[in-house]
Amino acid sequence: MSNKRQNKNQKELVEELINRGTIQTKEVEQALLQVDRSEFVNNNPYEDSPKQIGYNVTISAPHMHAFSLHYLQRQLTSGKPVKVLDIGCGTGYLCPAFLMMIPVQFRLQSTIVGIDHVKELVQLSHNNIRKSFNQELENKQIFLVTGDGRNGYQHLAPYDAIHVGAAAEKIPEALLQQLNFGGRMVIPVGKHGGDQEFLAIDKDLQGKITQTKLLGVQYVPLTSLEKQLGTNE
Ligand code: SAH
Repeated sequence: MSNKRQNKNQKELVEELINRGTIQTKEVEQALLQVDRSEFVNNNPYEDSPKQIGYNVTISAPHMHAFSLHYLQRQLTSGKPVKVLDIGCGTGYLCPAFLMMIPVQFRLQSTIVGIDHVKELVQLSHNNIRKSFNQELENKQIFLVTGDGRNGYQHLAPYDAIHVGAAAEKIPEALLQQLNFGGRMVIPVGKHGGDQEFLAIDKDLQGKITQTKLLGVQYVPLTSLEKQLGTNE
């Protein structure tokens, strides 16, 4: 069974995701080839599964990273510089991956904002991203902040694409407001440990919001810092 074979490098992981039909476009393939998962997690980085990263959370599985890029591809490749908000950036993996989806001539003026409420994870993101994307951090093409992602990040809004990497019980109003016209948010919605759906939320050019169910998923909760760390009991 080829699926059981251990991938030894990022290229083999990407090939596995192509063979399974998870990666469907050249753009997603190229972006994922440029961001080596071993720079973001140590333990079996090329296995298609989530991994513990401390603080009661995980780096998402590579197939979910691929789907997230896929469902935001239209916004990331719209032929202009874009602003992206990655909520719950964790290891930081998706920030450079989003940047690498953007056509090269629009990258310098684009901004990917990564936000997490665990300050140590923001530091981890910084340390991980710096390994291959230090210049992009210095240029503020990738910009990391500590804060409650349920409030978005008003300072750089509106965003053409918003990715939420943790499951919300309901869609935070601030995120709908910070979504640009023509923008899309992908967000897992549902109870912790229960059935969750990965939704696409589109805001059209008139500001009308529509919602599309993409797939069933399992994410850690989008919650308060106290609940996540278990310090509220
Ligand atoms: N996408 C990341 C991490 C996913 S785990 C990766 O693949 O590496 C979900 C992340 O959401 C965790 O890092 C957790 O700390 C963060 N998180 C949960 N609730 C949050 C909130 N209210 N505000 C900001 N970050 C939050």
